[in-house]
Amino acid sequence: MDERRKLNDEQGRLAALRRAGLLDTPREEPFDRITELVRSVLNVPIATVTLVDAERLWLKSVLGLQVTEVPREVSFCTHTIQSHEALIVEDATQDARFRDYPYVLGEPGVRSYLGIPLETPDGYNLGALCAIDTVPRQFSAADVAIMTNFSRLVMNELELRQIAMSDSLTGAMTRRGWMEAVETQIARCRRNGQPSSIVLLDVDHFKRINDTHGHPAGDRILRAISQACFETLREADLFARIGGEEFAIFLPVTDSVEAAALAERLRDRISQTSFDLDGTPVRATASFGITEVPPYIEGVEAGLRLADALLYKAKTDGRNLCRVA
Ligand code: GH3
Ligand code: MG
Ligand code: MG
Repeated sequence: MDERRKLNDEQGRLAALRRAGLLDTPREEPFDRITELVRSVLNVPIATVTLVDAERLWLKSVLGLQVTEVPREVSFCTHTIQSHEALIVEDATQDARFRDYPYVLGEPGVRSYLGIPLETPDGYNLGALCAIDTVPRQFSAADVAIMTNFSRLVMNELELRQIAMSDSLTGAMTRRGWMEAVETQIARCRRNGQPSSIVLLDVDHFKRINDTHGHPAGDRILRAISQACFETLREADLFARIGGEEFAIFLPVTDSVEAAALAERLRDRISQTSFDLDGTPVRATASFGITEVPPYIEGVEAGLRLADALLYKAKTDGRNLCRVA
């Protein structure tokens, strides 16, 4: 995808933002340290690490302001993420784009702004690192260079967290990372009145595969099954290895009928695949438990238990099956 199309790919951008797993999470020291640096090095009263969500900004770190959310349509950062360059505003009252914004007209009286897009390695702008002042000022090329370096620190921090949250064998999320991300996503779907679903899958008779072909061969099958899942899922879906040969999928904005259809596609695909282990074709199947996250449950743990009961039923009914609530 070329640069311009990527900047316009809002769905891909939002999916990358969800994968980063920072929305609605509380403030954390590594990000606050960077905004503290921005304040002292650029000598500005306000500094933020801002993530641009569909309708709002989520301030992952904010110093000098008492807010964590801002409506997207009245934000400087919305403009910043439309390019890969810094956005500089020397005096917002002289700029038709910004002079009517509440933060300019009222408290805290924003006058100047320097925002650097927070760009992922694959070119999505998740948000901006911002230096904000309440008096008009110019920002020098040196200021932009320093802020660009700071913005890389933010992205490094993000990448480290994603590495820590992904399983080294398969590249899927870890159980812990998945549970945290799903908790926020369930709450979000509920706020928007949208359904969400959980699919659990467990490889059938995996012990036998290991015993027959060896543990490394088993590992290769786990990797191949993960690959099949990655290829079948949408960008916004959250996929984790939550146990040895057990995987979980969270499907936002998906009801149980759609979730069951997806699980059935995956089940079929896995059962049709002949895994090539050094020339020996090996087949593997998996069993699936599927549930829509019911409105009455508290937390992802309870959702997993429901899916697990259905997975157990798929096993006892004969394996290589889907069972849906
Ligand atoms: P079922 O159809 O009831 O799920 O049977 P199963 O044999 O798959 O289930 P069981 O829980 O008895 O065995 C799971 C096996 O998965 C045992 C364990 O050695 C193997 N396993 C767990 N983690 C890994 C791993 O990372 N790599 C490999 N190769 N095997 C693993
Ligand atoms: Mg198993
Ligand atoms: Mg198991």
